[in-house]
Amino acid sequence: MTAACLMSTYQPLALSFTRGLGTRLWDQDGREYLDAVAGVAVTNVGHSHPRLVAAISEQAGLLLHTSNLYSIDWQQRLARKLTELSGLERVFFNNSGAEANETALKLARLHGWHRGVEAPLVVVMDNAFHGRTLGTLSASDGPAVRLGFNRLPGDFIKVPFGDLAALESVQRLHADRIVAVLVEPIQGESGVQLAPPGYLKALSRLCSRRGWLLMLDEIQTGIGRTGQWFAFQHEGIVPDVMTLAKGLGNGVPIGACLARGKAAGLFTPGSHGSTFGGNPLACRAGCTVLEIIEEQGLVDNARRQGEQLLNRLRAELADNPNVLAIRGQGLMIGIELKQPVRDLALCAARDHGLLINVTRGKIIRLLPPLTLDGREVEMIVRGVARSLAQG
Ligand SMILES: *Cc1c(COP(=O)(O)O)cnc(C)c1O
Repeated sequence: MTAACLMSTYQPLALSFTRGLGTRLWDQDGREYLDAVAGVAVTNVGHSHPRLVAAISEQAGLLLHTSNLYSIDWQQRLARKLTELSGLERVFFNNSGAEANETALKLARLHGWHRGVEAPLVVVMDNAFHGRTLGTLSASDGPAVRLGFNRLPGDFIKVPFGDLAALESVQRLHADRIVAVLVEPIQGESGVQLAPPGYLKALSRLCSRRGWLLMLDEIQTGIGRTGQWFAFQHEGIVPDVMTLAKGLGNGVPIGACLARGKAAGLFTPGSHGSTFGGNPLACRAGCTVLEIIEEQGLVDNARRQGEQLLNRLRAELADNPNVLAIRGQGLMIGIELKQPVRDLALCAARDHGLLINVTRGKIIRLLPPLTLDGREVEMIVRGVARSLAQG
């Protein structure tokens, strides 16, 4: 088959898989690969987890969809579980990350409206990525995603990620217009960029002092990825708003926007909605994913194996002159190179049976399933080291 009938938004590698189980994928020729991408931080409990397969299959035979004209039991269960795990209070369900962020941005507007702010501004970060809808694209940074899409909705101000002083200075300029700050705890698409320790805590303090909503985009960092259920839990804070998607359904599309305090009560009947959002299939998948993570201790496993992987990569790549930095938290790890290596992801797959992602041309991003074991840590280290040595 050729891809001639598809719009050319993607440049897929010449690889295609027909089957997956746990941390492994198999291609059409039956060749096995270790998956250190996990569908971009989506298949956190691994491929074809038997318990998830059984739950989805059963639900498909019972009921897929009824719409939000009726109450949906699985939606309420998933909302309760997410609020218990996060300390936030209420949930709105979407179908994707971008939609969850749109929901958060609408909450910010309503928050401003209630405070009598006529032209509300949301603070966002340099190099942020929040999605591809017009609204979330406006909140994102960089020509790679924005070029050609003028004019984008405005009402955002951008500051450098991790720089509290810069935020203090825009605050002085726009004190009465700012209503919220939207930030990724770790910037994923821009190459696993970490903020200095204490940044989120200071941000949280500033937001509560000013009455701004602290809105965390945990679409990539959430659901156990960084070694906590949510990355903000490393910092001992609770945001006003949080968005989730990727790992929540393990491949069944689902997004969620959570809120607490004033932000939890901003929507009223009719002010927001979604046809598919929170349908029985997606919410049952979400419930099952959370159960699996809990019962298999995958949050702790992500922390332990993540530390091991980070240490082993640092040891093994210490002498590689092309490696600029190795950083990460839990099983979200970036290896920044000085020079791009041509066809790196393809070579790793073809020659070493290892799937890795390369973002911004020269940052290897590792996002393996949270079920990773010690032997697989070594397989990743070996595959990455050998692929880099080849390049
Ligand atoms: C992937 C991602 C999004 C967008 O999610 P979609 O489901 O592709 O719309 C938004 N924010 C972050 C941090 C992401 O990683």
